[in-house]
Amino acid sequence: MRRLPGVLIVEDEPAIAELISVNLRHSGFRPIWAMDSVTAQAELESVLPDVILLDWMLPGESGLMLAKRWRAHPRTKAIPIIMLTARGDEVDRVAGLDAGADDYIAKPFSTKELLARIRAVLRRRAPEQAEGQVTLGELCLDAATYRVTFQAQPLKLGPTEFKLLHYLMTHAERVHSRSQLLDKVWGDHVFIEERTVDVHVKRLREALGEAGSMVETVRGAGYRLTVQALLAKQA
Ligand code: CA
Repeated sequence: MRRLPGVLIVEDEPAIAELISVNLRHSGFRPIWAMDSVTAQAELESVLPDVILLDWMLPGESGLMLAKRWRAHPRTKAIPIIMLTARGDEVDRVAGLDAGADDYIAKPFSTKELLARIRAVLRRRAPEQAEGQVTLGELCLDAATYRVTFQAQPLKLGPTEFKLLHYLMTHAERVHSRSQLLDKVWGDHVFIEERTVDVHVKRLREALGEAGSMVETVRGAGYRLTVQALLAKQA
């Protein structure tokens, strides 16, 4: 099954949240609504969305503070954030972008424009993850030359393990369910059992040798590539 891109809407006004949700659903997104910072934080701790729409004026912590915090946190720092606000002046726009927002849209906005902005941030994120070198700790992957090294020593990986590692490295520190990995690594139209993922994760760990402990099993959830596990082991 194809996974729909998730959009976390952090907005305290139900009417606006509802309007955005309906439009997103019609356009093939999976909206999740959080009416305040506490709910939004809880959502992020369970499942990471592909994009966050963040209202500036919220009860409790402001959108600006949330953007800063999420941008600074390893788990959430790569998620594109679009700030929503009634404030339209230049100073606020700069403050929003400085806090780490990827884009900014002033209320009232057309849903068409909002959808265009969402698609644009998703597109912008994709190419930088698809090409070139990725490094996580001492593990390096070069997508152009198909080379993987750990502590400057070359490693031998099969094509599926390579694809799997590439995906995990470009989406590190997040938990991926088996079905998400099937969707992202094996593709949408392939029908294979989730057990297949386990087989390839096992092979990937073996191929990585000492760096294999970076591939963590998250009980009941899936897998995560993290530099923390290796550091903990080395300590
Ligand atoms: Ca508000």
